[in-house]
Amino acid sequence: MSDKKCKVLIIGSGPAGYTASIYAARAGLGPVQVTGMELGGQLMSTTDVENYPGFEEVVQGPWLMEQMKKQAENVGVEIIYEMITQVDFSKKPFRCTSETTTYLADAVIISTGAKARWLGLETEKKFQGFGVSACATCDGFFFKGKEVLIVGGGNTAVEEALYMTNHASKVTIVHRRDSFRAEKILQEKLFNHPKITVIWDSVVDEILGTENPKSVNAVKLRNIKTNGVQEVPVEGVFVAIGHDPATGVFKGHIDLDEEGYMKVAAGTTRTNVEGVFAAGDVQDKIYRQAITAAGQGCMAALDVEKYLQE
Ligand code: NDP
Repeated sequence: MSDKKCKVLIIGSGPAGYTASIYAARAGLGPVQVTGMELGGQLMSTTDVENYPGFEEVVQGPWLMEQMKKQAENVGVEIIYEMITQVDFSKKPFRCTSETTTYLADAVIISTGAKARWLGLETEKKFQGFGVSACATCDGFFFKGKEVLIVGGGNTAVEEALYMTNHASKVTIVHRRDSFRAEKILQEKLFNHPKITVIWDSVVDEILGTENPKSVNAVKLRNIKTNGVQEVPVEGVFVAIGHDPATGVFKGHIDLDEEGYMKVAAGTTRTNVEGVFAAGDVQDKIYRQAITAAGQGCMAALDVEKYLQE
């Protein structure tokens, strides 16, 4: 085990992490970025990206992340491909430990992201990126004039169903119980929307589609009370059953909310530990976009710069 000193350590390699490291490098802070095992984050499992500004054409998620990595390398970020498995923020410098190294950092930016929860169906995996998505805001536009299904009963599912009415010809929302947990005001909007149908007490058993071209054409739903099965024709399936922030290693070291997201001071990236900052989906359960994560990465680097100057 060796020690490595740095002014700022950035943990994670999604849009938040790379943007933070690019800004920190350009501020002369010599950042070290430890990527984690899932290099590039959630965009690595996305196909078409049409809402990240700066590109005339649709770009691919993995390609976009490769550009961010190259840009970080070009401005001098030291990128290290390993995983932080232990932290100690009780004294300075902060200690973050991987399998090989203990990083001794004056400031830390945590941008470890979150993971969408999936239903765990084989056919869901098969059609991911080909009709199955975990983000209507990202992919909804590709379903113009089509019939779609939203799975879930929380704020995200109801908001995504409402959002999809802007694109889809018909929106069905399926929930495993007979009441939503989403805010009442959102529920009212949903119930009053002529394009939305609700199917209660039901789960998705299978997603059906074609091989060539790979695309979805229906879902098989099962009513968990009656065991009755019905097939609903849809071309898009949006799984909106929650996310899990990647904060396990920070539990007990940083204040997390009841769902495990990092708490930050409003309008900043400051956590409860002075000198430790959080950016991107690890602290944001509302917006969850590549561009908002990148924006927060920028904020974190600026917050670090100010903190180190003080
Ligand atoms: P939630 O955890 O609130 O809701 C997840 C939903 O998915 C629940 O209805 C749950 O059912 C259902 N679900 C979970 N697992 C499965 C499964 N395996 N199969 C079928 N259904 C399943 O997640 P959200 O992403 O909706 O919200 C996360 C947090 O972010 C919440 O605090 C929410 O309030 C907040 N948020 C706020 C927004 C806003 O203020 N505008 C927008 C979006 C999110 P069940 O109800 O039976 O448990």
